[in-house]
Amino acid sequence: MSAFENAMRQLDIAAEKLGLDSSVVDKLKQPDNIFEFDVPVRMSAKGGSASGRDDGSEKIFHGYRVQFNNARGPYKGGIRYHPQVDLDEVKALAFWMAIKTAVVDIPMGGGKGGIEVNPKELSLAELERLSREWVRKMYEHIGPKVDVPAPDVNTTPQIMAWMADEYAKLTGDTTGATFTGKPLDKGGSEGREAATGQGGFYVLDEIIKKLSLNPTDTRVIVQGIGNVGYHFAQLARQGGYKIVGLSDSKGGIYNPNGLDPEEVMRVKKEKGSVINVDGVEKVGGLAILQKECDVLVPAALENQITADNAARVKAKVILEMANGPTTPEADKILHDKGISVVPDVLANAGGVTVSYFEWEQNLKNEHWTEAEVLAKLEPIMRESFRAVWDTHEEHGVDLRTAAFMLAVKRIVEAMK
Ligand code: GLU
Repeated sequence: MSAFENAMRQLDIAAEKLGLDSSVVDKLKQPDNIFEFDVPVRMSAKGGSASGRDDGSEKIFHGYRVQFNNARGPYKGGIRYHPQVDLDEVKALAFWMAIKTAVVDIPMGGGKGGIEVNPKELSLAELERLSREWVRKMYEHIGPKVDVPAPDVNTTPQIMAWMADEYAKLTGDTTGATFTGKPLDKGGSEGREAATGQGGFYVLDEIIKKLSLNPTDTRVIVQGIGNVGYHFAQLARQGGYKIVGLSDSKGGIYNPNGLDPEEVMRVKKEKGSVINVDGVEKVGGLAILQKECDVLVPAALENQITADNAARVKAKVILEMANGPTTPEADKILHDKGISVVPDVLANAGGVTVSYFEWEQNLKNEHWTEAEVLAKLEPIMRESFRAVWDTHEEHGVDLRTAAFMLAVKRIVEAMK
């Protein structure tokens, strides 16, 4: 399954509704720049780097950056570390970033980067060398007004700090504004760590009101308990929702009486996975998508809800906190079943929105309080949801097509 082909299908559907010229659609499908490069890393001696010795061997990883579209502002988007990263995926993710920044109407474009690597197999010192090397390969093509990377799957504030430091050494730019998602003491923004989950929570609140549901009778399953899934689940539970299912890459757990994400995370940290929680039903990481619930929240990777399993989804709402979790074939099946799919480019846009705030604070040399950050994020998420909802009603299209229609109109306007 090609994520990029899926993304282009989504674009075609919206472009047709908008009556766009095929020459314009072709232009929208073309990434501005593709960088593909080797990332060599000196590996530490077996047994870790504690001794300070290394065996001098070098391992070569494959790195990417796709700068998709900057009509509305600097390229913006994360860097993913994952063994399945490839050019097709990075192109899709970069395109979705361009749509996402336009949906929430922040003055940024779309880009994405990655390294094909399993970071769990690297020591901390190797991870640092890998991250700094990515910057040495890319520093001439990124910058506060050019391209602003951020965290994504498996990349952390610490990794952003190494990257920002390497960038400052190479260029002398000490604003910190070339990377967002940095630690607080390195120019990061209050609220950035939880921002994607927080933004999704505001969107959840909007959609359940539209569907006349109440938090207390709404059961939620979250697939994936990384940064995004964990913060989202925490906020949802605090907001009165019942979290009945959680999963990680090793499998899922289900409890109709409710789960406490904090407690589940404690077990995961101690015993390696959520599946080691006692007294709950164990299910596979994909099977969790088919369990009884009201809101299903994919918060892991793309291509999870497909033609193979979409018909068995029991939720009323799918809130996409991952990028690209639903294929176009699945979208159609879900639509026919009357399930509302709140698309990634809206539901998970809180992360990049607070990244934009971080960038602004760095350039103005300011530090906003968490309350200030949330006071700016909340109306952006709620108003973006309402604009997408209104377009969906006005044109009789699903929420993804509505979001794409709004975004594409803004990008085309800027390109002109
Ligand atoms: N990786 C996140 C996303 O997919 C955040 C990107 C950013 O902050 O630039 O939206």
